[in-house]
Amino acid sequence: MDSTNKLACDYLCIGAGTATMSFVDSMLTLSTDSTSFVIVNKQPAPGGHWNVAYPFVTLHQPSGAYGVCSEPLGKFKGRREFLSPTDLATGSEVLEYYSRVMAKFVATGRVRFYPSVTYDFDTRSFTDAEGQVKTVCFTTLVTPESYVTVPSMRPPPFPVEEGAATIKPVNALPTEEASRYVVLGCGKTGTDAVLHLLRRGVDQRQISWVVPRNTWYLLREKIWSPASGSILPFKLAFTNALLRSDSILGAFKALERAGYLGRLTLDHEPVQCRGALITTADLHLLRTVQDVVRLGRVTAVRPNRLELEKGTMPLEPGSLLVDCTACGTGGYTANYDVWSPGHIRLSSNLTLFNPSHSSALVAYIETTSTDAAAKNKFIAHSAASPLLVVDGSPNFHGHLSQLVQGVYSELKTMRAIQAHGKKSFNFYFAARTNYVAPCHVPLRKTLWVMFGPARLDKKATRLMRKIERVGFEDMPPVDPRPRKAAASPARMVA
Ligand SMILES: Cc1cc2nc3c(=O)[nH]c(=O)nc-3n(C[C@H](O)[C@H](O)[C@H](O)COP(=O)(O)OP(=O)(O)OC[C@H]3O[C@@H](n4cnc5c(N)ncnc54)[C@H](O)[C@@H]3O)c2cc1C
Repeated sequence: MDSTNKLACDYLCIGAGTATMSFVDSMLTLSTDSTSFVIVNKQPAPGGHWNVAYPFVTLHQPSGAYGVCSEPLGKFKGRREFLSPTDLATGSEVLEYYSRVMAKFVATGRVRFYPSVTYDFDTRSFTDAEGQVKTVCFTTLVTPESYVTVPSMRPPPFPVEEGAATIKPVNALPTEEASRYVVLGCGKTGTDAVLHLLRRGVDQRQISWVVPRNTWYLLREKIWSPASGSILPFKLAFTNALLRSDSILGAFKALERAGYLGRLTLDHEPVQCRGALITTADLHLLRTVQDVVRLGRVTAVRPNRLELEKGTMPLEPGSLLVDCTACGTGGYTANYDVWSPGHIRLSSNLTLFNPSHSSALVAYIETTSTDAAAKNKFIAHSAASPLLVVDGSPNFHGHLSQLVQGVYSELKTMRAIQAHGKKSFNFYFAARTNYVAPCHVPLRKTLWVMFGPARLDKKATRLMRKIERVGFEDMPPVDPRPRKAAASPARMVA
């Protein structure tokens, strides 16, 4: 083979989504000047799933801490990139941001970017835009493990019989007119679809909403208070609620009473929370929809009816089915080691629901040692640690006890980084991707909550102990057996 078709690099990074971009950004700062990277990406532009998301999508967490450490995305208040609950970048703003970041990467001369290509793990190669097959010789393979799926990426995940009502992915919604809209799914995407319809003036009587499971919403303006821009008062309230309650559900209900959480109707007690953030005004608007169908998931679309797990729903002629059934947190699981020889699997959940900070931390830990086992010790939810298995699966279903386990893992990882030394903790704490970094929240405010009368630091330790002894009546016992690491593409080709 022609040598121009052979690429060599230290790190071959799959995808130019949030996880990989944050990893490469921090590695460029932390590693030696000679360390090189190749990034291959299926889409023509960097930004991962944001390339194919619905047109009215925005971040649901403040822009200020999203993305990479070296480049701001949020608005500034004075010299601080303030975390405002109303500063939510649109999908196209996120894409512009990542194009800017990629241009910076390439300008260093250490990163080569190959857009519109699919890397084949078996042959260790990809075909470039000119049709040339390129093989890659690398020291370490870096893979994102989030497996985000948005509805436009695949056909509906259930049979649709010929002659049935039109079904379209949520992306089509802004340009579609129908006499009845049947929104399938109640995750963040389904919720956004219903809000989009109502805000565009569609009468609630024209909307049916298939809500397979009840879920807790996080109420954004309370979690990031507009006054402080800090998430710490919420973390304190969350910790206090869990310490005071005998059940996780009880703690969630206490947080609802305090205005941090909300649910569609008070008749149903959700046992799930996937981290979807909305405002209290959004919640009131959602509650105006009367036709909420609680018959489980859709199993098939037939002419004139929907079949669901627990029954059927008749469909009026002219109904448009809006597919919002994809799962944005499919890979938020934790039963694998981040490091194995020659392979880094980017966990989205080193810090809960914060893939940007998680990948920055993986980059930092990567530079602390060459020993995979030593690096895995930083991560609480690796293959060797006990993990909550709910419904027979370690995948993240948003079950409340999994969420509490996620909080535990985050705290444990933070403690391991703290114990590693001041330099490590400073990176963890001061990175732009950390919600409470001094570039977002004045240090004195953080110190006051952590070590002042509120004593969040001490309470977090007490919470960890309570979780370890399974101190909640609705928390399944933690299986203490070490888990087998899940198979990885790198292992498969080895
Ligand atoms: C609608 C929506 C809103 C969200 N909002 C937020 C938010 O506000 N804040 C937040 O923190 N998180 C949010 N998330 C969570 C989301 O998971 C992360 O923000 C993040 O974008 C995920 O990035 P990723 O790099 O892990 O995955 P992706 O964005 O999926 O990127 C992976 C990339 O790898 C590419 N790829 C995979 N295999 C190959 C291959 N073999 N060859 C080449 N390329 C390959 C894929 O095509 C893709 O481009 C949201 C998710 C969704 C769906």
